[in-house]
Amino acid sequence: ALGREFVADWIARSAQAISEHRSELITLDREIGDGDHGENMDRGFTAVAVKSGDLPADATPADVLKVVATTLISTVGGASGPLYGTAFLKGSQAVADRAELDGAAIVAFLTAARDGIVLRGKAEVGDKTMIDAWTPAVDAAAAAQAEGRSEAEILAAAADAAQSGAESTDPLVARKGRASYLGERAIGHRDPGSVSTTLILRAAADAAA
Ligand code: ADP
Ligand code: MG
Ligand code: MG
Repeated sequence: ALGREFVADWIARSAQAISEHRSELITLDREIGDGDHGENMDRGFTAVAVKSGDLPADATPADVLKVVATTLISTVGGASGPLYGTAFLKGSQAVADRAELDGAAIVAFLTAARDGIVLRGKAEVGDKTMIDAWTPAVDAAAAAQAEGRSEAEILAAAADAAQSGAESTDPLVARKGRASYLGERAIGHRDPGSVSTTLILRAAADAAA
């Protein structure tokens, strides 16, 4: 099972990945949004990496995840800040009081995170948003967990499914967020939030491996 060190490593790897892909996220958001997604996410995860390092030694995974949530809400801004913030907040509540995360807890975290984004943003699969990465990731994680796979395998399945889900946004017209103002001009471009979601879930898989 994965403890607090896993969460700390996940955060550090997410911050690293977002920083490395900052300009890619900016370029994607420039095509079908306002061009700030890379900057927003890099600012947020840089702050998260600092804040999560300040926690007491007896902090649980849920304590760390809650700090991630509040920090993302206060630093990312835009549409994605409240959405990722809600995801980590609902996810942390789903694993409250657990010292370690087993496969079932990981699935509970991912499910609650996705449900939080849907509650807040009302997007469905096919609307060309980060939900197109999150929902296949949740489904793949649940399937891997039902097969009795390890935590690392569950997270790898989630990351692979998020990647495919992000790619699936390319031909879509957006029905939520700024890209929805573009109508058919959004076709042929990948949704930036689905790409940042993939980076974060890949970071989780790498931290668990
Ligand atoms: P903004 O659009 O306010 O500049 P960002 O650029 O940081 O915010 O984030 C844009 C991303 O947010 C989109 O690529 C999309 O994945 C996600 N997004 C926007 N609206 C929604 C929504 N209603 N539900 C889910 N995700 C959304
Ligand atoms: Mg933007
Ligand atoms: Mg913006």
